[in-house]
Amino acid sequence: MSTGQSILEVHDVSVSFDKFKALDHLNFSMLEGELRVVIGPNGAGKTTLLDVISGRTRADSGQIRFNGQDITRMADFQIVRRGIGRKFQAPSVFPDLSVSENLALAARRKRGVLAALFQRRDPEETRRINEVLELIDLGRLRDQRAGSLAHGQKQWLEIGMVLVSRPRLMLIDEPIAGMTASEVARTAGLLRQLLGFCSVLVIEHDMNFVREIADRVSVFHQGALLTEGSFDRVRADDRVRAVYLGT
Ligand code: ADP
Repeated sequence: MSTGQSILEVHDVSVSFDKFKALDHLNFSMLEGELRVVIGPNGAGKTTLLDVISGRTRADSGQIRFNGQDITRMADFQIVRRGIGRKFQAPSVFPDLSVSENLALAARRKRGVLAALFQRRDPEETRRINEVLELIDLGRLRDQRAGSLAHGQKQWLEIGMVLVSRPRLMLIDEPIAGMTASEVARTAGLLRQLLGFCSVLVIEHDMNFVREIADRVSVFHQGALLTEGSFDRVRADDRVRAVYLGT
């Protein structure tokens, strides 16, 4: 549930690639404890939003505040330390390590590569890994090679790998791409369960899925926020229809 407190504020942010404005004076904000979905046609700036929040792309102008702190000029690893985790679409699990080894490495990544490789597991870390294994439904596969998991299971493991580093906000790019119907259903449940741990910002195209998971939906168009609100309100908005129909 949302606490009503603002966690993320993107204020008047612009990002250009050559002459193309991927984000054009964008204003966007999120409340702590909500699951927000960003939708919009291709090229609307959705991925650039996640890139600029996570420090992968630099804003040309404007300001980004997270949890009251200005993160606009921070490097990506500093932003991770402040509590923003990101799950990319492309898989990044270590295929030859077990499920739980992947989680252990991810839990230590925040402390640096050397710590990740040499540190012993402490009881708090073990507790957290077990909790995450239950949540992502991979407890019984904890000793299995990550490379042998099904596509959906790998995606859940990746979400788990972000979660063990205890983010306050998780960014997720197209979580159900390539999934079977039953994997999609399980993922909807998982994303809602994440709210017990952090706020969640998702980019998604599948409108049935958006309806199922979103507290609020933000519609992007040409690098700016067109409108936002509940799924039903946004769906009924003529401007949103026009954007999707290209009229
Ligand atoms: P969306 O995720 O909504 O489809 P993007 O944020 O990926 O939109 O992209 C917005 C526009 O910015 C696109 O037209 C894309 O071609 C362009 N763009 C995104 N990233 C880069 C980049 N690194 N270099 C050049 N152009 C980019």
